[in-house]
Amino acid sequence: MMQSYLRLLECGGCGKTYDFHRILNLCPACGKPLLPRYDLEAAKQAFTPDHLKDRPKTLWRYAEMLPVQHQAFRFTLGEGFTPLLKVERLAQHYGLRNLYAKDEGINPTGSFKARGLVMAIARAAELGVKALAIPSAGNAGSAAAAYAARAGLPVFVYLPEDVPPAFLAEIKALGAQITLVDGLITDCGRLVRQGAEEGRWFDLSTLKEPYRVEGKKTMGYEIAEQLNWRLPDVIIYPTGGGTGIVGIWKAFDEMEALGWIGGKRPRMISVQSAGCAPIVRAYEQGVESAEMWQNAETIADGLRVPAAVGDFLILRAVRQSGGIALSVTDSEIRAAQIEIGRGEGMFVAPEAAATVAALPRLLEQGYIHPDERIVLLITGNGLKYTHLTG
Ligand SMILES: *Cc1c(COP(=O)(O)O)cnc(C)c1O
Ligand SMILES: [Zn+2]
Repeated sequence: MMQSYLRLLECGGCGKTYDFHRILNLCPACGKPLLPRYDLEAAKQAFTPDHLKDRPKTLWRYAEMLPVQHQAFRFTLGEGFTPLLKVERLAQHYGLRNLYAKDEGINPTGSFKARGLVMAIARAAELGVKALAIPSAGNAGSAAAAYAARAGLPVFVYLPEDVPPAFLAEIKALGAQITLVDGLITDCGRLVRQGAEEGRWFDLSTLKEPYRVEGKKTMGYEIAEQLNWRLPDVIIYPTGGGTGIVGIWKAFDEMEALGWIGGKRPRMISVQSAGCAPIVRAYEQGVESAEMWQNAETIADGLRVPAAVGDFLILRAVRQSGGIALSVTDSEIRAAQIEIGRGEGMFVAPEAAATVAALPRLLEQGYIHPDERIVLLITGNGLKYTHLTG
């Protein structure tokens, strides 16, 4: 029996706590993201790495540290427990000795969005939500459509009208209701919020509900487990809304409290596209939250997020870890996409290629060192972006 140790929701801004049986989006008091908190003391006695041995090779293997209460709502399409591959040829090219790629592209619907959305939708279904909606650059919409189908719930997906056709085909085939918007993901987000306020659906936006981050945090658990509970020195993460970076950072705190790892943390490096880099700008200015980025434009659709509600949480994780935030150009991203393809046999999404594109600059400026263990988060598969490589 896998029993969740979820105890309450805590605001990442004001610290106020809430009953986890309530259907909540942002903190009712201050409008910041809510983060699930677990009884780590009790879990420490009952949940150890030994228990993982016979568990399914999906993210549900960490069920005690996940919010879903009942087995019937642990929907699955086989998401998570993706391979952590040593990428020797890429490493050699940059003079690195311990470079790994976590291949999230093999998740259902081809990206790590599956992790966040299986959790958000499972929990929404468990709490009795009847309809869902999400703003998306593409991958989140695909994953939401897949898991909503799995849950038997309707989902309304709002996408920028320039979304590549492969995403549309997939989302449509998975049965979601599509609305195309003349604008960016932030404009889609506004329409989804309006509908939620009118009571038409539950808003699944990044960090605007408490559970997507819990799905994404399982990447932190997996990286630790796959490296035998010795964390890497550096994690490089392509940042849009930032749920992954916030989630992975949260996972490390939980695992330390469980006694699974020590106090040493990887440096978290946030990569954005030069055409939309609000987190990088805020990092460089030394401020705690990011201003809206004007005229956002990049081939990495998932990084085209001009404003993120979790900005302060991303910046906090990057700074506390001793990491940095930096941007790469679209042409560097394209070159990196081809390099990891030819070198390693991985056809990756441009967002994911941004992590590879960051390597030369990080080395040049001494932010990473040849002997360090470095993990690239290869967040998605390249197949839905064939418009870029044709
Ligand atoms: C959404 C997305 C990102 C950005 O993820 P966040 O958690 O929003 O920061 C990166 N890569 C791919 C492939 C994506 O779909
Ligand atoms: Zn609050």
